[in-house]
Amino acid sequence: MVFSYYKKLSTSQKSIYRKSDEIHVVPLPDGEPLRPFIVRLVSALKLEDREQIEEISRTLLAGMVGRLGIPPLRVKVLAVRPSAKWGELHGLYELGEGKVSAVITLWMRTAKHRRVVAFRAFLRTLLHEFCHHLDYHLYRLPDSFHTEGFYKRESSLFHQLLPTSEQPDLSVSKRLNY
Ligand SMILES: [Zn+2]
Repeated sequence: MVFSYYKKLSTSQKSIYRKSDEIHVVPLPDGEPLRPFIVRLVSALKLEDREQIEEISRTLLAGMVGRLGIPPLRVKVLAVRPSAKWGELHGLYELGEGKVSAVITLWMRTAKHRRVVAFRAFLRTLLHEFCHHLDYHLYRLPDSFHTEGFYKRESSLFHQLLPTSEQPDLSVSKRLNY
């Protein structure tokens, strides 16, 4: 399936889009040691501890960056999601320039009710923004589009970090999902 905005892209953008759409899986070597951080992330969100959430996110990202051999990136966890008529911003990826590394910004509270974001939504957003980093640095695409392949890569990382057999995480995330 090709998303409708494809038609509006230039020829070179279409070629980037198609390359992005073809990659479905991001094999993460030795992902097992990263899983305890997922459990820690669940409790940090439960405690609404911004600094801890940021530190765990940083560790997780550094772990993935190291395993995939790509340039490091920074992460900022802020309080309440920016919002406007278009909705709420969940996460943001900003490309690095020169010696300045790329930055991922994540928000821990929803704009509407100022409640802590559900664990799965938080992790999904973190991985989503990380997938933009992969597009530029692992796949060396000149642009990063939201293609079906992009969302599959996001899911691929999600399932490697959080195997479905690990149900305890699910129950906690349900409690956090106000
Ligand atoms: Zn995106």
